[in-house]
Amino acid sequence: MKKDHKIFIISGPSGVGKTTVAKGILKKLPFLKTTVTYTTRTMRLGKKEDKTIIHVSEQEFRNKIDNGEFLEWAIVHNNFYGTDSAVVSQELQKGSLLMNIDVQGALQIKEKMPRETILIFLKTKSFIDLVKHIKKREKMPEAILALRLANAKKELSLAKRYDHVVINDEGKIKETIEKVKSLIEKELNLEG
Ligand code: 5GP
Repeated sequence: MKKDHKIFIISGPSGVGKTTVAKGILKKLPFLKTTVTYTTRTMRLGKKEDKTIIHVSEQEFRNKIDNGEFLEWAIVHNNFYGTDSAVVSQELQKGSLLMNIDVQGALQIKEKMPRETILIFLKTKSFIDLVKHIKKREKMPEAILALRLANAKKELSLAKRYDHVVINDEGKIKETIEKVKSLIEKELNLEG
């Protein structure tokens, strides 16, 4: 592996805009590579992803855990998610990576590959802003909303373990993408 290739990981509570930011960054910095996520969540129609998603059954997922095929894996909102270890090694040979994964997975990668991994936490200005944003984006039963918010609190408490915390202010997605882009460029010594 070339020593200057990095793994940039964007995490943050559900509804904060990670996928939009990741897609925006990939457009502006097309040299960044993406990864492959295996998940037990069902397929969503019509949503463009920011990486390759492979849908598997829980048994298939457990077999992959047993075979040591994941660099990280976690249960997020009752579904299993895991990053294919071989894909990360292969892609990292070619260049730097951008990943959008949850806090538990991000911290596993940071622990295994501390030198290469740069953690970026995306948050709203306040918790109330997050609640408003989630409610506006998607109608969901109260119980699901409560689960999302409880998870968000847990994730926010881990933001201090991240290298960078970026605020995605309401209605300022372009500025947020620009902020994340410039910190990636700085980490890669590309600025100027
Ligand atoms: P979604 O199902 O909407 O794509 O993602 C739901 C949550 O799972 C998000 O917080 C996202 O960051 C996280 N996630 C997506 N892919 C992965 C992955 O490969 N590993 C982990 N640990 N989390 C993931």
